[in-house]
Amino acid sequence: MSSSKSLFIGGEWVAASDGGVREIHSPHDNALVATVSEATKEDSLRAIAAARASFDSGVFTSWPLLARCEFVEKIADLIDRDAEILAGLESGDTAKRMIEARYDMADIAATFRHFASLGKKLHDRTVDVGDPKITSKIVHEAVGVCALIGPWNYPLLQISWKVAPALVSGCSFIVKPSELTPSTAIHLMKLLAEAGLPAGVANLILGGGATAGAPLTEDPRVDLVSFTGGLVTGKRIMATAAQTVKKVALELGGKNPNIIFADADIDAAIDNAVTAAFLHSGQVCSAGTRLLVEESIHDRVVNEIVRRAGEIHLGGPRDEQAETGPLISEGHLKKIEEYMQNAIADGARLLVGGKRATRSDLKNGWYFEPTVLDGCTTKMSCVQDESFGPILTVETFSTKEEAVALGNDTIYGLSGAVWSRDEGKAQEVAAKLRHGTIWVNDYGPYRPQAEWGGFKASGVGRELGEHGLSEYLETKHIWTNNKPARSGWFLDRSESTDDGKGSTQ
Ligand code: NAP
Repeated sequence: MSSSKSLFIGGEWVAASDGGVREIHSPHDNALVATVSEATKEDSLRAIAAARASFDSGVFTSWPLLARCEFVEKIADLIDRDAEILAGLESGDTAKRMIEARYDMADIAATFRHFASLGKKLHDRTVDVGDPKITSKIVHEAVGVCALIGPWNYPLLQISWKVAPALVSGCSFIVKPSELTPSTAIHLMKLLAEAGLPAGVANLILGGGATAGAPLTEDPRVDLVSFTGGLVTGKRIMATAAQTVKKVALELGGKNPNIIFADADIDAAIDNAVTAAFLHSGQVCSAGTRLLVEESIHDRVVNEIVRRAGEIHLGGPRDEQAETGPLISEGHLKKIEEYMQNAIADGARLLVGGKRATRSDLKNGWYFEPTVLDGCTTKMSCVQDESFGPILTVETFSTKEEAVALGNDTIYGLSGAVWSRDEGKAQEVAAKLRHGTIWVNDYGPYRPQAEWGGFKASGVGRELGEHGLSEYLETKHIWTNNKPARSGWFLDRSESTDDGKGSTQ
């Protein structure tokens, strides 16, 4: 897809105000896949103005809730209709395998359907205040204008977790996908327009975080910033948003412990540990990048994971043999190489991988071999810092208390897993881990019906589930006195009696 008019502002496809464009290159072979507009600060301000005007006009909030929910269901149908096109665009930008991109599109349609169905159950509440002449009602209203800022690893999926509840709520919004992965967000805007969304409700800004993204977090006309991305950017956005007291919802990184006890189903645990660490080459916020294995089974588990990691077939989006793909960019590959050097300098033992892929057909892409580091401790940067690459660190423990202490010894708190056949032990450890999602004898599944988000530095708020809709709603209390009367709190001296005491009736 290539267009010099790929910003969507106020219902129009427009070019950047300075005519700027950005080329998108495939991480697989660096081939050009798209050329899109590169927004300026001025473009972002115009998008905010369009969103604000549409919200303040009531053009969308005036739709009955049911009509908005039906609209969101229609978007799910259009995503199903265009799933192959969308998957192609997504795998073009990210070089993820088509099969993974197709799964993502199915998840995205399910997300829209979940929020439509949840919206239909949204209702006002009447509060009994113990006074028959008072009607006390709790109602929900759209939060206002939202900046929806997304990352590059699951570009449309992460945006859909924000767009679907924003639509159900009646918000107007500006979407800002990662500068590296704009194509599916462009197509989503086309679907919203096709389905009849009023102009100005949905706007799209493409471009760099500092130029196109930052104004969305600074401007007082924006009421909520919902951001998915890295910790450093998340902190910056939170600090900026504080200046105008915006609401913030943050989905940040993770350093997720995958704990295997000796009494686990070892075969299932090993297979899932390989998937948890190396799916999408580790570019997954909930990747199981920290293996915590009970000492007595260390060699058996680690030897097998190392064997499996060494056999993973890397390849591009249309390589039928490929099991995972490249990193997103050359810059990210360089960061992973530096991360590796620090890990080795800290004393981690490299068991497999640890370098760029050497196969000749991968030489133009950003491929890094699946890597296992043993002998790791929580003092090492490779255990504390998110790599967002295919690097698995191994730590050992000998008691469940130690497993819990290690699993919680991180600033992050996004997700983790426990493997044990002892149900009581597994549930006890799950309860003690301070992470937003815990899998017991499983790794990775999520469903739009269940909340997703992090404890501690992994974020603020929750997406999906019921909470994921609440983020986009304000709660208002309407108190109606059906028999108005004077409050009588202060003395009304015009009615003073001779003895100087006012009436309180
Ligand atoms: P990132 O570098 O933080 O960027 C995320 C988005 O923020 C991009 O669109 C980026 O624009 C924009 N941005 C950067 N600076 C900004 C600023 N000052 N103001 C406003 N926007 C700004 O993250 P990423 O590298 O794309 O994504 C990887 C991270 O996302 C990982 O840490 C991962 O764990 C996290 N993640 C978390 C979840 C979750 O559910 N918790 C899910 C997926 C990913 P650019 O186009 O310039 O980059």
